[in-house]
Amino acid sequence: MAGFVHSTESFGTVDGPGLRFVVFLQGCPLRCLYCHNPDTWELGKEKETTAEELLVEFNKNRDFYKRGGITVTGGEPLLQLDFVTELFSKAKKQDIHTCLDTSGIVFNKSNAEQLKKFDALMEYTDLVMLDIKHIDPEKHKALTGADNKNVLDFAAYLEEKNIPLWVRHVVVSGHSDDKDDLKRLGRYLAHLKNLKALDVLPYHTMGVSKYKELGLSYPLEGVESLTSQQAVKAKSYIMEGFRDERPRVKR
Ligand code: SF4
Repeated sequence: MAGFVHSTESFGTVDGPGLRFVVFLQGCPLRCLYCHNPDTWELGKEKETTAEELLVEFNKNRDFYKRGGITVTGGEPLLQLDFVTELFSKAKKQDIHTCLDTSGIVFNKSNAEQLKKFDALMEYTDLVMLDIKHIDPEKHKALTGADNKNVLDFAAYLEEKNIPLWVRHVVVSGHSDDKDDLKRLGRYLAHLKNLKALDVLPYHTMGVSKYKELGLSYPLEGVESLTSQQAVKAKSYIMEGFRDERPRVKR
């Protein structure tokens, strides 16, 4: 089987623990206003690559990945669910740590056939990094084009399977920086027993030039990058909600 791979990065430092080989898969059904990878949106535009070819690339630098592993991201990697499963199953045969970075948007808990495929993928997945882009369904829709039902269903599924979870949240001024929303996100996270880490990331404008190259207008024109101090503040609000809720969580 071959996958549509946008690109790879040999020494990723922000996509999971340790130094990682990062695979960016092509295709995404969302249109996040702050997306800095619009060149990954259209499925089928990139060259096809097999799992074996990716693992050959990984093994060229294998010594560097002792505390890291392989991360599959995108775009939205779960659009190519079967391919990710094949890649991860082959990676686990070589004792490689596997991490999936996803928005969770394609998860549909009422699709039994798809659920079986997710069960198969989870057998080979060591860690999931889940982007929860907004805790409020309507605001999630305004920010990404879809509400967050599938995302939160996926988080519940991962908790049930006890798959280690890192949550990521991008903070954008005027879109995902409201204090009450951030506290609400924290209260929600307090109930996830498999939660291992929370990354709060500041919005940046590094993707602007890609929009120009693609002839697309930039949706957040005029919105300034968030400072790291503002991101720290946002995280403190999330943690406030988290701490308020934690005593109420059944263990
Ligand atoms: S999910 Fe990721 S790749 Fe897709 S639009 Fe959002 S930020 Fe871009």
